[in-house]
Amino acid sequence: MDAEIIAVGSELLLGQIVNTNAQFLSRKFAEMGVNVFYHTVVGDNDKRLAAAIEIAESRANLIIFTGGLGPTKDDLTKETISRQLGKKLVYDEEALHSIQEYFRKTGREMTENNKKQALVLEGAQVLPNDHGMAPGMVVTIKGITYMLLPGPPKEMEPMFLSYGFKSIMNKLKSHDRIESKVLRFFGIGESLLETKIDDLLENQTNPTIAPLASDGEVTLRITAKHSSREKCEEMIAEAEKEILERVGQYYYGSNDTSLVKELVKELTVRNLTISAAESLTGGMFQEYLTTIPGAGKVFKGGIVSYTNDVKANVLKVSDKTISEHGVVSSQCAMEMAQHARELLDAEVGISFTGVAGPDEQEGKPVGTVFIGISFRNGETKSERLNLVGSRAQNRIRSVKYGCHYLLR
Ligand code: ATP
Ligand code: MG
Repeated sequence: MDAEIIAVGSELLLGQIVNTNAQFLSRKFAEMGVNVFYHTVVGDNDKRLAAAIEIAESRANLIIFTGGLGPTKDDLTKETISRQLGKKLVYDEEALHSIQEYFRKTGREMTENNKKQALVLEGAQVLPNDHGMAPGMVVTIKGITYMLLPGPPKEMEPMFLSYGFKSIMNKLKSHDRIESKVLRFFGIGESLLETKIDDLLENQTNPTIAPLASDGEVTLRITAKHSSREKCEEMIAEAEKEILERVGQYYYGSNDTSLVKELVKELTVRNLTISAAESLTGGMFQEYLTTIPGAGKVFKGGIVSYTNDVKANVLKVSDKTISEHGVVSSQCAMEMAQHARELLDAEVGISFTGVAGPDEQEGKPVGTVFIGISFRNGETKSERLNLVGSRAQNRIRSVKYGCHYLLR
């Protein structure tokens, strides 16, 4: 099956919203083994939508539409498709009923154009909308399957997962599945990682291995294609083993995890609490940590000690350290970590001090960062980083290195 996704909406063309619907659907189709060869975006315009449909019909046998199923004048997807396919629009009793129920429950007044949302293509399979009013629909005509989904992702995604997915799976003749797994690495650059697995990247066709770098991290996506899910998983596991034998020391997790998620997991498992003292990162480490559900069990709190004054008076970094070594120093990082741990009564203290840029500080170049780590047993150490990047990159990477050092 060759699919094309047509996203309808002038706001997409105006750059007001991003076409996340196409991204979501493409991912799902990849998992199902359906080829998506084209993404089309067209405005709320009858003529241009009709032309887009004709083009899609010439090169796809599965056409997915998102958007334009709503009650307003500019929502014309159904009407245009109805005309193009020569299929009448008829009221779907169930959809009409659920729209009436919705208005009854919310106590709002139902207008005539709301009724329009219950119109469906005659003979189509109706996909219920559990999170809104406009139902979706699927219809096959002359070997081409048309699926209409609402625009709002909160309605479209659950509708596709609950009803659309199955409807397409039933139509699939080939049952090749595509499974993939993402391996995440930190502390190694993309080019070095690539040279270590060069032969694997070159010779693999199934599974394929694709590297991607962002924000100081490198990921490898392993993708396998086979009719059986077990076989796919076996192929992925084999490639994974080979990769980890070579670069396993940089590996920290798979799929949709992150360094900070892994850190929260690790602290939770080991029943440890943490506190932080941050200078150049200005609270970013704590912000990242607290976005993770469950952080409350492990994170005690912290101090943003941006000025020397706060470092000395609140965090009790010694005058000697500040005058002899400066605040961008291993000594200062260690005292910050230790005192943050003690002040907040945590098992682990971490600190960040350094030169984010753009100007150097204390004669130390931009990107010089010290991360201090202090444990309740008295062990306190520090790591020095020499980062090369913008101010924003230096701050984010410091946070990630902090997580990385704690996870080692
Ligand atoms: P409604 O009943 O809300 O009008 P609809 O099916 O008519 O739904 P649209 O009017 O086209 O859909 O879009 C409604 C909203 O859905 C948009 O304002 C936008 O927030 C979101 N949306 C639409 N298309 C997309 C898309 N391709 N990707 C992400 N979001 C989208
Ligand atoms: Mg609309």
